[in-house]
Amino acid sequence: MEKRVLVCEDEAAIREFVVINLKRNGFDVREAETGEAALRIFMEEEGRFHVALLDLMLPGIDGLTVCRELRKANDKLGIIMLTARTQETDKIAGLSEGADDYVTKPFSPTELVARVTSLCRRVQLNGHLPEPKQADQVTMGEFVLNHRRRCLEKSGKTIELTQVEFQILDFLFSQKGNPVSRERILKQVWGEAYVGDDKIVDVNIRRLRMKIEEDAGNPKHLMTVWGKGYKWQS
Ligand code: CA
Repeated sequence: MEKRVLVCEDEAAIREFVVINLKRNGFDVREAETGEAALRIFMEEEGRFHVALLDLMLPGIDGLTVCRELRKANDKLGIIMLTARTQETDKIAGLSEGADDYVTKPFSPTELVARVTSLCRRVQLNGHLPEPKQADQVTMGEFVLNHRRRCLEKSGKTIELTQVEFQILDFLFSQKGNPVSRERILKQVWGEAYVGDDKIVDVNIRRLRMKIEEDAGNPKHLMTVWGKGYKWQS
């Protein structure tokens, strides 16, 4: 699969250096000179990037703001901050704004490409290209799926979910009561490349039922549809 990277750096020389090296290593690259341009490109392309490389110091909105906005729009995207050696505190701020990694300038092409490659791999393992997020939360009857905190609330009470449980519920909620097969859940949550058995889906559904249902043996919400898979019922 093509690996797509968004590069945001105002200094032309550094930007070209980054872009050339990524392209040489097979990445599909889009570049932006400002944070505003980066956000525009990201939205225009519906967030279909694996990784964003963001310089901290930019002429308009800064790299941290861009980072926060991208993270808000999409929690699967890999984000790497480009920082100068003197920006230690900014580096830490970047990570708390949702960045996954940072690279300190000056960096070698080998180091940069290695970091981007490794983050791309993690993002791809996570599933497909990142999907743009529709809303911060989805309500289904007494249940509210909170995207920001990645948890579920049942009648106002928080139920903590694992990443996988969260993704399964998010997928079922998005299907609006239509049944989805184990195979589709597996592809959606574990990714196309996953080679394991779809029994893992059943295991997670069983655990979700224990967390969600009054009686896990007699579910009212996380329903089995014989011959079809699972569906959500509010
Ligand atoms: Ca800069």
